[in-house]
Amino acid sequence: MSNSLINKTVQNTLKKLFFALEYAANMHRFQKRKGAAGIPYINHLIEVSNLLVQKLEKPSDELLVAAVLHDVLEDTNAREDEIEKRFGNEVLSIVCEVTDDMRLSSSQRKELQIQTAKGLSFEAHCIKIADKTCNIRDILYTRIKWSRKRKMQYINWAIKVIEQIRDTHPGLVEEFYTIVRKSKELLDISD
Ligand code: ZN
Repeated sequence: MSNSLINKTVQNTLKKLFFALEYAANMHRFQKRKGAAGIPYINHLIEVSNLLVQKLEKPSDELLVAAVLHDVLEDTNAREDEIEKRFGNEVLSIVCEVTDDMRLSSSQRKELQIQTAKGLSFEAHCIKIADKTCNIRDILYTRIKWSRKRKMQYINWAIKVIEQIRDTHPGLVEEFYTIVRKSKELLDISD
């Protein structure tokens, strides 16, 4: 028999995670990822969460739940009070940290991410790194209809953001720079 205390802890984490996954799947249900492949949005949320589960030694429940919900405020009509009621204050605060102010222009939002990244929590840093790693993977490996120039612009911007927080976690940061190196090879960018 395994230790019942550990089982309870694991079960609690699973309950929170699947509750968040069901919620996110529902909120993003009509959205697809960019690109011709028409990949459902939830795939991205699972990829980001999976990367964190694989790389971090002891991710907190709040970090994993916030990873599943990281685009829900930005890209759906979910409200902050709803997130707080369902998932608690700590999760809401992490999700808010990784949510852009959509009232600003795209270039303002991008500049602000570079300026503010450093001041965010460890949890927000991890989600940002995993998110950008997965986005670059999508840019390289899904049929996304962006010009080479636009792809390079996204990758160069992501590098500027992650440079600010490159001490967050060695394994996770390494994953980001691995895909960046791959992108330079595939898009034929020389330093
Ligand atoms: Zn995302």
